[in-house]
Amino acid sequence: MYDYLIVGSGLFGAVCAHELTKAGKKCLVVEKRPHVGGNIYTEEIEGINVHKYGAHIFHTSQKDIWEYINGFAEFNNYVNSPVARYKDECYNLPFNMNTFTKLWRDVFTPAEAEARIEEERRERYTQNPQNLEEQAINLVGETIYNKLIKGYTEKQWGRPCTELPPFIIKRLPVRFTFNNNYFNDRYQGIPVGGYTQIITKMLEGAEVRLNCDFLEARGELAGCAKKIIFTGAIDQYYNYRFGALQYRSVRFETEVLDMQNYQGNAVVNYTAADVPYTRIIEHKHFEFGTQPKTVISREYSAEWKMGDEPYYPVNDQKNDALYQKYAQLAAADKNVIFGGRLGQYKYYDMHVVIQNALQTVAAELKNNK
Ligand code: FAD
Ligand code: UDP
Repeated sequence: MYDYLIVGSGLFGAVCAHELTKAGKKCLVVEKRPHVGGNIYTEEIEGINVHKYGAHIFHTSQKDIWEYINGFAEFNNYVNSPVARYKDECYNLPFNMNTFTKLWRDVFTPAEAEARIEEERRERYTQNPQNLEEQAINLVGETIYNKLIKGYTEKQWGRPCTELPPFIIKRLPVRFTFNNNYFNDRYQGIPVGGYTQIITKMLEGAEVRLNCDFLEARGELAGCAKKIIFTGAIDQYYNYRFGALQYRSVRFETEVLDMQNYQGNAVVNYTAADVPYTRIIEHKHFEFGTQPKTVISREYSAEWKMGDEPYYPVNDQKNDALYQKYAQLAAADKNVIFGGRLGQYKYYDMHVVIQNALQTVAAELKNNK
């Protein structure tokens, strides 16, 4: 008899397994994929750590979480500074003085940039922005919206900006300094040697079964543990009894190229509507690689349908209301805890997932002393 059956070997499941094992609990981790790690899984190709399920940059302002993750791997000093490609123009992201001075050849100082943006948004300023378009124009004005936001966002979300919630764009910094750091966080980096080693270390001491889908093995696994920690999709756990939650999915086209350096940066966003992919990742640049070959992934955003990998929860009103119905069922179910991005139907960055998992385990250990 196990103390815990943990469904999913992503970051949430792995942190729980590590902490519970450390506290003397017996854990079984089941994973439906043929490998551990969930979406942070990295795989070596041509000596390069390839982020198989999308580029992952660790960033946080929480010292305790930074120290925690550094206990499992050494992190390098990578700073994410994506470049945006719009037709035959190239700009720095996030929106900062480098972007503004390149866009407007008569802008050199922060005051000039602010005045220019003010002029650009004056006509269309909205007091209480109700959608992403209104919010974006309030933030950076019409030219940046048209060149760097509209096409990218509509490709990414498959919906017009006028139908998307304003909060999506709010997390992008707008700075009046020459600073291309995509994040405002105190700590940032990529684990030297990739993310998979972190998960492997976290899972030491727990029993792991790969290629095991909980939903298919439910009968056989029933009663094998005192409690379940479920990090798969909550609607799937309850057999979609209120209907399916919606997601955006992502398709990656990965290619090995016989050249040393394809695009000179880890992340290049393609912001024009007529380019079918949203961005190209050149994986070696996350670790300053000098291998003779390079690996790139073109990222295509797609509507999710049953059977696809769910990536981004679509946190609009309709889906959030549906999630609440599942969350109510879960609250009454004392034998299962739902955690992580799919279990809680929320886009969480890695540092938040770690924090949530640590809190979940602390509460469990306190209640079951
Ligand atoms: P997951 O990693 O999805 O793990 C869930 C696991 O459960 C999976 O392995 C799955 O196969 C397994 N599973 C599901 N159902 C079952 C079942 N029925 N039976 C058995 N196993 C099952 N965060 C950052 O901090 N920085 C970034 O740069 C960043 N970039 C991202 C880019 C993309 C494209 C995406 C989608 C996310 C990104 N994130 C980033 C977020 C990050 O991926 C998550 O915070 C993290 O992976 C969540 O971990 P998790 O354990 O909740 O979920
Ligand atoms: N965004 C944009 N242009 C860009 C990059 C981002 O308009 O070149 C917008 C887009 O709406 C996106 C949001 O900013 O959904 C958040 O971007 P982020 O890079 O945080 O997205 P993620 O890493 O989640 O894919």
